[in-house]
Amino acid sequence: MKHHEAMYIDGRWRPAAGSGTIEVVNPADEQVIATVPAGSAEDVDAAVRAARAALPCWAATPPAARAERLAALRDQLAARAEEIAQTVTAELGAPLAFSRTVHAGAPVAVCGSYAEIAREYAFEETLGNSTVLHEPVGVVGAITPWNYPLHQIVAKVAPALAAGCTVVLKPAEDTPLVAQLFAECVEAVGIPAGVVNLVTGLGPVAGRALAEHDGVDMVSFTGSTAVGRTIGALAGGAVKRVALELGGKSANVILPDADLGKAVAVGVANVMANSGQTCSAWTRMLVHKDQYDEAVALAAAATAKYVPGERLGPLVSARQRDRVVGYLERGVAEGARPVVGGPRTPEGPGFYVHPTVFADVTPEMTIAQEEIFGPVLTVLRYEDEDDAVRIANGTVYGLAGAVWAGDDARAVAFARRLETGQVDINGGRFNPRAPFGGYKQSGIGRELGPHGLTEYLQTKSLQF
Ligand code: NAD
Repeated sequence: MKHHEAMYIDGRWRPAAGSGTIEVVNPADEQVIATVPAGSAEDVDAAVRAARAALPCWAATPPAARAERLAALRDQLAARAEEIAQTVTAELGAPLAFSRTVHAGAPVAVCGSYAEIAREYAFEETLGNSTVLHEPVGVVGAITPWNYPLHQIVAKVAPALAAGCTVVLKPAEDTPLVAQLFAECVEAVGIPAGVVNLVTGLGPVAGRALAEHDGVDMVSFTGSTAVGRTIGALAGGAVKRVALELGGKSANVILPDADLGKAVAVGVANVMANSGQTCSAWTRMLVHKDQYDEAVALAAAATAKYVPGERLGPLVSARQRDRVVGYLERGVAEGARPVVGGPRTPEGPGFYVHPTVFADVTPEMTIAQEEIFGPVLTVLRYEDEDDAVRIANGTVYGLAGAVWAGDDARAVAFARRLETGQVDINGGRFNPRAPFGGYKQSGIGRELGPHGLTEYLQTKSLQF
């Protein structure tokens, strides 16, 4: 077991003001693998002061020089990819192959994209007799979740640095180890002291102190809608910029002329990835009534291959496992039919659940409305296209989704009717430059690509 004694503040590894610690548990075997400091409001204050002191110099650093640091950071993340993958597997429980490709791979792509965007972006533009300057918002408080622990950090820190902002990062308490590794990478590539600061700690203590701090100009948060609401209210009260990436209940709409086999197979893989702990997961599969039984059978067969402990990792914590089991029980109680899986949990240590497909799900059921955040697919039937649109749009969320059809044009026509921030057309492919974020209660603002950069910029116009 490793005891981490320090947090990265003002370019130095410093002990926390208090003596509290947080235990990091490996969810696959329930063993404590490390401890990290539980930062307090005092630590947050020190970090915010450091970020504020570093701001004028970093904001004045030419974008090309900021881009150079981001490129070096990308290279550092790539060089330490194996260590990153092992760390995420140890603290999140994701199978190592998935950690290597996604948890370690995506941050390299995103950091690299911001090195390019910082170089290309028009931070100054001419509009008639005006020059418009796009300037950094200032000190950013970044509060991140555990589900894609490094990706979520990089999706905030990289655009903030590209914009010329400085950052105080408060990562999720379940997965602080990869955040420490990230801070080591920041240090190694010579990003100036105070530009990126790390405070590990509990959400209601360190997270809240960061969201409330007067010295923070913008809060960027990813996590639950409940906490997002609190942070939005705090930011509103202080008239602070806020970006919120919250939950989702995304629909995977399979139109009758689509390749059903492919649509179901990709749909199941999407839901089971990361043990279902993905905010953009297509957790509701919408199938035409005439193809319903066939789709359910295909989904069940594909899901059964996700054997817990092999292809399917555990959930991050006992709390999340219990939450997911609660939803599985609720689904049964409300009359949905588990075709595979169900509320019974596997034997042995680890926070595992069985991958589950629910059939006979109706749109108003709890399991079709609320974010479960586990390896649980609901399959719903629709009568016709209008019915499919109504069901797809019939939740408070609007983060992502998918449409499958015989041709892209037909799928795009359907996608235009969806109230959601991102739609994959006939499968789609990850694009680190495509804006990601929510309609409705899935959030405010966008991450990734040039749209993600603008969240961290404010405009000033000079008239001549
Ligand atoms: P959470 O919202 O509690 O935690 C996210 C981050 O916010 C963590 O860093 C946490 O320490 C911090 N936080 C918690 N309370 C805070 C407060 N009062 N003030 C400031 N910061 C605070 O999420 P969770 O408990 O880890 O997960 C619960 C649910 O959230 C999940 O089941 C899922 O539905 C959802 N979730 C969504 C995403 C996403 O990517 N949209 C990610 C993780 C979790």
